[in-house]
Amino acid sequence: MTSINEQPIPAARPVIGEEEIEAAVRVLRSGRVVQGPEVAAFEEGFSELVDGRHCVAVNSGTSALHMLLLALGIGPGDEVIVPSFSFAASANAVRLVGADVVFADIEPGSFGLDPAAVEAAVTPRTAAVMPVHLYGHPAAMDKLMPIAAKHKLAVVEDACQAHAAALNGTPVGAFGEGGTFSFYPTKNMHALEGGMVTTADAELARTLRLLRNQGMEQRYANEIVGANMRMTDVAAAVGRVQLTKVGGWTEQRRANAAYLDAHITAANVTKPPVAEGARHVYHQYTIRVQGDREAAMAKLTEAGIGNAVYYPTPIHRLKPYWEPDQKAGRNWDLPETERAAAEVVSLPVHPSLGEGDLERIVNAVNALGESL
Ligand SMILES: *Cc1c(COP(=O)(O)O)cnc(C)c1O
Repeated sequence: MTSINEQPIPAARPVIGEEEIEAAVRVLRSGRVVQGPEVAAFEEGFSELVDGRHCVAVNSGTSALHMLLLALGIGPGDEVIVPSFSFAASANAVRLVGADVVFADIEPGSFGLDPAAVEAAVTPRTAAVMPVHLYGHPAAMDKLMPIAAKHKLAVVEDACQAHAAALNGTPVGAFGEGGTFSFYPTKNMHALEGGMVTTADAELARTLRLLRNQGMEQRYANEIVGANMRMTDVAAAVGRVQLTKVGGWTEQRRANAAYLDAHITAANVTKPPVAEGARHVYHQYTIRVQGDREAAMAKLTEAGIGNAVYYPTPIHRLKPYWEPDQKAGRNWDLPETERAAAEVVSLPVHPSLGEGDLERIVNAVNALGESL
């Protein structure tokens, strides 16, 4: 039970502090709010998180994925291999460019694309593979990159939950042809809303800059068909403030996760796996619960512990995917995805947690062991 002086612990707590507010007000007072110097400075600053790659800011993580697929020339007739165990935006971006989504399963016990399943899903139409660094843990890029190279597939990293995660020293967003990040308020850092595409390819970066701005580099000299996916300077100014803090926040997330790892002992709870060489940035601290998950979540909520399931329905079971697949007689065999969707629960791990909060989370989780 939550006692009177124990406030519930939220699952996430976006930071909009005085510095963020001052930065936004400074830009608003300048009268210049659309994409300009703040966006350019944000791109340059973010580049340090991705080994100096080119960075192109857009208005959301979904736009980043959408624009990157467009810039790579992926469209009708192409297939893109995507995990079904992700947020719908991963697959939506593929459908938005008119390409076909091919779902591949995740690794047993883990949450990232299974390299063997990816290889088995390759067809002559496969144009790209989209590893998702879910919960802030890098996908198995060491195994996925050689498979992509062998079959000449573009690698589009969905790093929307994984700012500053890395595998064997290489940051996510610096492996593939392109990487994408989100700055939605609940992500590890935000820019009110926003997204970033990262790439080592200067030509691709130029195409992305054109695509986000009506195909123009010079005003009214449109070179290609583009959209308006620009980030505002207000958002970028907020993002620049957050960029100075994300390093410290990430260390705090990792320390919070280490505390939970060390103290959660419930036998029917599996703690988050970390692959060898992986730097997990704990966008989520996601456990698996064996037993009645709904009852477990109700008990956590009763104890004032924020909790949530990301994601209860795998993408292939969502209506815009399920219905056309049913019509076409296509049935995906994704047992690990189904298992994960039925077992996962994410606990608070955000940097605003205090030691007392962490103790309360541990006590509530360990108490589940006695009741399920
Ligand atoms: C948040 C998220 C996105 C989309 O980012 P938005 O900024 O919300 O558009 C895409 N993929 C994953 C895995 C995400 O978590």
